[in-house]
Amino acid sequence: MTIPDDVMERAYQGKCTKEDAMLLLEGGPFELFKLADDLRALAVGDVVTYVANRNIYITNKCIGNCGFCAYRTNKGYILSVEEILAKAEEAWKAGAVEVCIQGGYTPEADMEFYLEIIESLKAEFPDLCTHAFSPMEVNYAAGISGMSVEEALGKLKKSGLDSLTGTSAEVLSDRVRKIICPNKINTRQWVDTIKTAHKAGISTNATLMYGHVETLEERLDHIFTIREIQQETGGFSELIPMSFLPYNNKIGEQMLASGKFSSTGLEDLQLLAISRVILHTHVDNIQATWVKLGKKLAHVALSCGANDLGGTLTEDQISTAAGGSNGEFVSPQEFEWMIREAGKIPIQRDTLYRHIEAREPKKGLVRNGKKQEIGSGE
Ligand code: SF4
Repeated sequence: MTIPDDVMERAYQGKCTKEDAMLLLEGGPFELFKLADDLRALAVGDVVTYVANRNIYITNKCIGNCGFCAYRTNKGYILSVEEILAKAEEAWKAGAVEVCIQGGYTPEADMEFYLEIIESLKAEFPDLCTHAFSPMEVNYAAGISGMSVEEALGKLKKSGLDSLTGTSAEVLSDRVRKIICPNKINTRQWVDTIKTAHKAGISTNATLMYGHVETLEERLDHIFTIREIQQETGGFSELIPMSFLPYNNKIGEQMLASGKFSSTGLEDLQLLAISRVILHTHVDNIQATWVKLGKKLAHVALSCGANDLGGTLTEDQISTAAGGSNGEFVSPQEFEWMIREAGKIPIQRDTLYRHIEAREPKKGLVRNGKKQEIGSGE
């Protein structure tokens, strides 16, 4: 299919409509990939970024009942602040610039706990970016702590939080949410929390977890909602489309029983590409997340509109619980090789997409920003 001139023109102007997006998806995938790749080059050039980071799962206890979740349990663990600091220290020593703090929501995790985590991390590792908590977790913790969401976010900002995660978005459709995560905040609450964070000066990313019960139109509506929020606040750093992993969870089991297996590789690439087109001039960074796509498909995605490969991670309990088999760590060296082999320029970034020099792994313990040598075997 030759893409009509007016559709092309609107895409370059950052004014792609839902009808345009449908038409681009119904046409040949390679025309869409070419358009997305051209827009990627215009937006960010040939640089492809990644972040040296570590996920820290503070708890797997959660009172939620999301049908897609293979991670939660009623009798799980909660890390102490000291245990979280120990994991952050390992990450810092390994050369990480970000810790991504994830968990569930549980009465044991209130605002006091969240604030202590961030304050302690910032006191011990002032240069380590904190990318933490979801709109769902902030809503819940604020509620049990007798605070408004605005107050909770203000305190998190003051404590040193660099970025709130954009998870718990799933698909921003109340029809879908009633099926897959009926106890979670609704679309309006997610949008309001994100806007409040942005207005408090806290950057967030945006996520989309697709490939289960949503329609194509609901996927597109989600991306257009992200665009509308960005036009109002400018607070999104990136969009991460994440394909659903259908193993060990209720929604996945129902799908597998009916003969459906989440999204196909072609659909994954088309969604990344159409995200680039819809968000052009609004959100510059589209992440191909290797932990969901696998390294080879993520590599191909760098020619279909994506410009970021996400994090080195170190651990990923959520994906592995749901049947993810792509591993939990990619070294900076492998990322750099993947990026160069795609004809692009690798650059490390921090949480806020600032380009940075790669940090050398440290040999000593580093607390309070000071290095203490502890022997050559480390
Ligand atoms: S997805 Fe998150 S909120 Fe939902 S049940 Fe799992 S841990 Fe809880």
